Amino acid sequence: MKRNITWDEVFKRLENFDFRGAEIYGVPKGGMIATGFLKNAISTHDVNEATLILDDLIDSGATRDKYRQMYPHIPFVGLFDKEKEGIKDWLIFPWEADHPQGEENVQDNIVRMLQYLGEDPNREGLLDTPNRIVKSWDEIYSGYKVKPGSLMTVFEKESYDQIVLLKDIELYSMCEHHMLPFYGKAHVAYIPDKKVIGISKLARVLDAYAKRLQIQERLGEQVTMALMEHLQPKGAACIIEASHMCMRMRGVSKQNSIMITSSLKGVFLEKPEAREELMQHINR
Ligand code: ZN
Repeated sequence: MKRNITWDEVFKRLENFDFRGAEIYGVPKGGMIATGFLKNAISTHDVNEATLILDDLIDSGATRDKYRQMYPHIPFVGLFDKEKEGIKDWLIFPWEADHPQGEENVQDNIVRMLQYLGEDPNREGLLDTPNRIVKSWDEIYSGYKVKPGSLMTVFEKESYDQIVLLKDIELYSMCEHHMLPFYGKAHVAYIPDKKVIGISKLARVLDAYAKRLQIQERLGEQVTMALMEHLQPKGAACIIEASHMCMRMRGVSKQNSIMITSSLKGVFLEKPEAREELMQHINR
């Protein structure tokens, strides 16, 4: 759960701390902002002169541990301490509220991930990496913002009741177990019952579901379910052939394996002839 911290809460906490006389170094940026509101203490920009280091939030504790290692003689305190206070919520501070998703907060967490890897997040090549990663998510996970139903402008067309197939659609998605890509191609088909949609829409419906955290089986099911719901066709199918980086990269000797899943509805499921015809078109 996300919880918005109010300015009042911040001020109340600052008052409760009684920093009188301390020379406080605020950890950028949250601790720095909090330090700026202190009434009865001195804030210093030079951590070597500090008698106390203040951060807005002790989350994983990685930042605290880093400072403790470098300045073991200076006490480190957090306005909020997740572990100590048993806070499970995702805290959003008032100075982060401009970012509705707490984007700053997410970037802080990516910094922690880099530290966990043994990296120095402050070296030049990595300085902007948290920002770049979050920006890349706009594209990779753009499916969450799309309502697949809204993509399907339906036309009435009495006469056509043969297979409509868009095959070899380029597919990129992210596996929800490892947040690693899986990619390959998909074949999406349906047999209309009076209602049709523009053929390119089949690819866009696929994309709307693919650009989320997924498992391959569910992705195919969601595509055929959406077609069944909005077109009420005689049948719908989504066949996916994909390589999973979580298998390829992790050396489980499955470097060249491809996973194939098929979701079949209506006549594609019930009538072997319909299924066979579909397969012939795909394999041609
Ligand atoms: Zn995986």
